[in-house]
Amino acid sequence: VGARILLVEDDNAIGRGVVQALETSGHEVDWVTSGTAALASAATALPALVLLDLGLPDMDGVQVCAELRSAHPFVTIVILTARTEEIDVVVGLDAGADDYLTKPFRLSELLARVRAHLRRPRLAASDENDELVLGDLVIDSAARRVVLAGAELELRPKEFALLAMLAGNAGRAVTREAIMSEVWDEHWFGSTKTLDMHISSLRRKLGERDGGPSRITTLRGVGYRLERP
Ligand code: CA
Repeated sequence: VGARILLVEDDNAIGRGVVQALETSGHEVDWVTSGTAALASAATALPALVLLDLGLPDMDGVQVCAELRSAHPFVTIVILTARTEEIDVVVGLDAGADDYLTKPFRLSELLARVRAHLRRPRLAASDENDELVLGDLVIDSAARRVVLAGAELELRPKEFALLAMLAGNAGRAVTREAIMSEVWDEHWFGSTKTLDMHISSLRRKLGERDGGPSRITTLRGVGYRLERP
Protein backbone atom coordinates (compact mmCIF):
# COMPACT_ATOMS: atom_id res chain seq x y z
CA VAL A 1 0.00 0.00 0.00
CA GLY A 2 1.45 3.34 -1.01
CA ALA A 3 2.02 6.24 1.36
CA ARG A 4 2.54 9.93 0.94
CA ILE A 5 6.26 10.68 1.25
CA LEU A 6 7.92 14.07 1.37
CA LEU A 7 11.41 14.07 -0.12
CA VAL A 8 13.59 17.07 0.75
CA GLU A 9 16.71 16.87 -1.40
CA ASP A 10 18.49 19.56 -3.43
CA ASP A 11 20.71 17.14 -5.34
CA ASN A 12 18.97 16.45 -8.67
CA ALA A 13 20.57 13.08 -9.39
CA ILE A 14 19.80 11.69 -5.92
CA GLY A 15 16.31 13.23 -5.95
CA ARG A 16 15.38 11.73 -9.32
CA GLY A 17 16.63 8.28 -8.30
CA VAL A 18 14.78 8.30 -4.98
CA VAL A 19 11.53 9.59 -6.53
CA GLN A 20 11.62 6.90 -9.20
CA ALA A 21 12.31 4.12 -6.68
CA LEU A 22 9.54 5.27 -4.33
CA GLU A 23 6.99 5.75 -7.10
CA THR A 24 7.81 2.34 -8.54
CA SER A 25 7.01 0.97 -5.07
CA GLY A 26 3.59 2.62 -5.24
CA HIS A 27 4.25 5.67 -3.06
CA GLU A 28 3.12 9.19 -3.78
CA VAL A 29 6.12 11.50 -3.57
CA ASP A 30 6.28 15.24 -3.11
CA TRP A 31 9.84 16.27 -3.96
CA VAL A 32 11.04 19.68 -2.78
CA THR A 33 14.56 21.11 -2.83
CA SER A 34 14.59 23.56 0.09
CA GLY A 35 13.75 23.71 3.77
CA THR A 36 11.13 26.42 3.27
CA ALA A 37 9.36 24.35 0.62
CA ALA A 38 9.50 21.30 2.90
CA LEU A 39 7.76 23.08 5.78
CA ALA A 40 5.15 24.51 3.39
CA SER A 41 4.50 21.10 1.83
CA ALA A 42 4.08 19.34 5.20
CA ALA A 43 1.71 22.09 6.33
CA THR A 44 -0.42 21.66 3.19
CA ALA A 45 -0.61 17.87 3.07
CA LEU A 46 0.85 15.88 5.94
CA PRO A 47 3.12 13.07 4.71
CA ALA A 48 3.45 9.71 6.46
CA LEU A 49 7.21 9.95 6.18
CA VAL A 50 9.80 12.61 5.43
CA LEU A 51 13.18 11.90 3.85
CA LEU A 52 15.27 14.90 4.80
CA ASP A 53 18.65 15.89 3.39
CA LEU A 54 20.63 17.82 6.03
CA GLY A 55 22.59 19.98 3.56
CA LEU A 56 19.98 22.33 2.10
CA PRO A 57 20.52 25.63 0.28
CA ASP A 58 18.30 27.82 2.47
CA MET A 59 18.13 26.34 5.96
CA ASP A 60 20.09 23.93 8.14
CA GLY A 61 18.44 20.52 7.76
CA VAL A 62 18.57 20.03 11.54
CA GLN A 63 16.44 23.15 11.98
CA VAL A 64 14.00 21.90 9.34
CA CYS A 65 13.84 18.62 11.26
CA ALA A 66 13.12 20.39 14.56
CA GLU A 67 10.38 22.53 13.00
CA LEU A 68 8.77 19.56 11.29
CA ARG A 69 8.83 17.58 14.53
CA SER A 70 7.31 20.39 16.57
CA ALA A 71 4.51 20.96 14.02
CA HIS A 72 3.89 17.26 13.33
CA PRO A 73 4.61 15.06 16.38
CA PHE A 74 3.75 11.76 14.68
CA VAL A 75 5.36 12.06 11.26
CA THR A 76 8.32 9.76 10.68
CA ILE A 77 11.49 11.65 9.79
CA VAL A 78 14.50 9.92 8.23
CA ILE A 79 17.61 12.05 7.79
CA LEU A 80 19.73 11.64 4.68
CA THR A 81 23.22 12.81 5.40
CA ALA A 82 26.57 12.90 3.68
CA ARG A 83 28.07 14.02 6.95
CA THR A 84 29.91 11.17 8.56
CA GLU A 85 30.42 12.78 11.93
CA GLU A 86 28.45 10.95 14.56
CA ILE A 87 27.67 14.25 16.28
CA ASP A 88 25.54 15.37 13.32
CA VAL A 89 23.49 12.22 13.54
CA VAL A 90 23.07 12.70 17.29
CA VAL A 91 21.99 16.32 16.76
CA GLY A 92 19.52 15.16 14.10
CA LEU A 93 18.04 12.47 16.33
CA ASP A 94 17.82 14.98 19.17
CA ALA A 95 16.00 17.35 16.81
CA GLY A 96 13.34 14.68 16.45
CA ALA A 97 14.46 12.44 13.58
CA ASP A 98 13.54 8.77 13.91
CA ASP A 99 16.34 7.36 11.83
CA TYR A 100 19.11 8.28 9.42
CA LEU A 101 20.71 6.98 6.26
CA THR A 102 24.26 7.86 5.26
CA LYS A 103 24.97 8.85 1.67
CA PRO A 104 25.75 7.18 -0.59
CA PHE A 105 23.03 4.60 0.07
CA ARG A 106 21.58 1.87 -2.09
CA LEU A 107 18.03 2.46 -3.25
CA SER A 108 17.17 -1.06 -2.04
CA GLU A 109 18.34 -0.06 1.44
CA LEU A 110 16.29 3.13 1.33
CA LEU A 111 13.19 1.20 0.30
CA ALA A 112 13.73 -1.33 3.09
CA ARG A 113 13.94 1.47 5.65
CA VAL A 114 10.84 3.17 4.29
CA ARG A 115 8.96 -0.13 4.40
CA ALA A 116 10.06 -0.73 7.99
CA HIS A 117 8.98 2.71 9.13
CA LEU A 118 5.62 2.61 7.39
CA ARG A 119 4.74 -0.75 8.85
CA ARG A 120 2.67 -0.47 11.98
CA PRO A 121 4.51 -1.67 15.06
CA ARG A 122 3.34 -5.16 16.01
CA LEU A 123 3.02 -3.82 19.52
CA ALA A 124 -0.08 -1.86 18.53
CA ALA A 125 -1.87 -5.01 17.40
CA SER A 126 -1.32 -7.05 20.56
CA ASP A 127 -1.59 -6.47 24.29
CA GLU A 128 -3.98 -3.60 23.63
CA ASN A 129 -4.83 -3.07 27.27
CA ASP A 130 -1.54 -3.95 28.80
CA GLU A 131 -0.05 -1.51 31.22
CA LEU A 132 3.41 -2.50 32.28
CA VAL A 133 4.52 -1.26 35.67
CA LEU A 134 8.21 -1.46 36.54
CA GLY A 135 8.66 0.47 39.76
CA ASP A 136 8.21 4.15 38.98
CA LEU A 137 8.11 3.44 35.24
CA VAL A 138 4.70 2.82 33.68
CA ILE A 139 4.31 1.89 30.02
CA ASP A 140 0.82 1.99 28.56
CA SER A 141 0.95 0.36 25.13
CA ALA A 142 -2.66 1.08 24.25
CA ALA A 143 -2.32 4.79 24.96
CA ARG A 144 1.33 4.84 23.81
CA ARG A 145 2.21 6.65 27.00
CA VAL A 146 5.24 6.33 29.25
CA VAL A 147 5.14 7.80 32.73
CA LEU A 148 8.25 8.06 34.91
CA ALA A 149 7.79 9.00 38.57
CA GLY A 150 4.44 10.56 37.72
CA ALA A 151 5.67 12.64 34.78
CA GLU A 152 4.90 11.70 31.19
CA LEU A 153 7.92 11.21 28.93
CA GLU A 154 7.96 12.41 25.35
CA LEU A 155 9.33 9.51 23.34
CA ARG A 156 9.75 9.27 19.59
CA PRO A 157 7.93 6.32 17.96
CA LYS A 158 11.04 4.13 17.73
CA GLU A 159 12.07 4.96 21.30
CA PHE A 160 8.64 3.93 22.50
CA ALA A 161 8.72 0.67 20.53
CA LEU A 162 12.23 -0.05 21.83
CA LEU A 163 11.33 0.63 25.46
CA ALA A 164 8.10 -1.36 25.18
CA MET A 165 10.01 -4.34 23.79
CA LEU A 166 12.66 -4.21 26.52
CA ALA A 167 10.00 -3.72 29.19
CA GLY A 168 7.99 -6.65 27.86
CA ASN A 169 11.12 -8.73 28.45
CA ALA A 170 12.21 -7.02 31.68
CA GLY A 171 14.94 -8.95 33.48
CA ARG A 172 15.73 -10.93 30.33
CA ALA A 173 18.39 -10.36 27.69
CA VAL A 174 17.09 -9.10 24.37
CA THR A 175 19.48 -9.57 21.46
CA ARG A 176 20.36 -6.80 19.04
CA GLU A 177 19.06 -9.00 16.23
CA ALA A 178 15.69 -9.42 17.92
CA ILE A 179 15.41 -5.67 18.49
CA MET A 180 16.40 -4.79 14.94
CA SER A 181 13.89 -7.30 13.64
CA GLU A 182 11.01 -6.21 15.90
CA VAL A 183 11.51 -2.46 16.11
CA TRP A 184 13.13 -1.78 12.74
CA ASP A 185 12.95 -4.31 9.94
CA GLU A 186 13.49 -8.05 9.72
CA HIS A 187 15.52 -7.64 6.54
CA TRP A 188 17.78 -5.00 8.01
CA PHE A 189 21.08 -4.75 6.20
CA GLY A 190 22.34 -1.42 7.41
CA SER A 191 24.32 -0.44 10.44
CA THR A 192 22.83 -1.14 13.86
CA LYS A 193 24.41 2.07 15.18
CA THR A 194 20.95 3.62 15.08
CA LEU A 195 19.99 1.17 17.85
CA ASP A 196 22.80 2.44 20.09
CA MET A 197 21.75 6.03 19.38
CA HIS A 198 18.19 5.25 20.42
CA ILE A 199 19.36 3.46 23.59
CA SER A 200 21.48 6.52 24.53
CA SER A 201 18.58 8.84 23.88
CA LEU A 202 16.23 6.61 25.86
CA ARG A 203 18.65 6.54 28.79
CA ARG A 204 18.81 10.35 28.76
CA LYS A 205 15.02 10.60 28.73
CA LEU A 206 14.89 8.15 31.63
CA GLY A 207 16.99 10.69 33.52
CA GLU A 208 20.24 8.76 33.38
CA ARG A 209 23.66 10.32 32.97
CA ASP A 210 26.57 8.99 30.91
CA GLY A 211 28.50 6.54 33.03
CA GLY A 212 25.91 6.64 35.82
CA PRO A 213 23.67 3.78 36.90
CA SER A 214 21.23 2.64 34.23
CA ARG A 215 18.01 0.67 34.06
CA ILE A 216 19.14 -0.58 30.68
CA THR A 217 22.16 -2.85 30.95
CA THR A 218 24.41 -3.21 27.90
CA LEU A 219 25.27 -6.85 27.26
CA ARG A 220 28.40 -6.50 25.19
CA GLY A 221 28.18 -8.40 21.91
CA VAL A 222 24.67 -9.61 22.78
CA GLY A 223 22.15 -6.84 23.30
CA TYR A 224 20.37 -5.15 26.17
CA ARG A 225 18.41 -5.98 29.30
CA LEU A 226 15.95 -3.71 31.09
CA GLU A 227 16.41 -4.36 34.79
CA ARG A 228 13.48 -5.15 37.02
CA PRO A 229 13.14 -2.71 39.92
CA1 CA B 1 22.20 18.63 -0.17
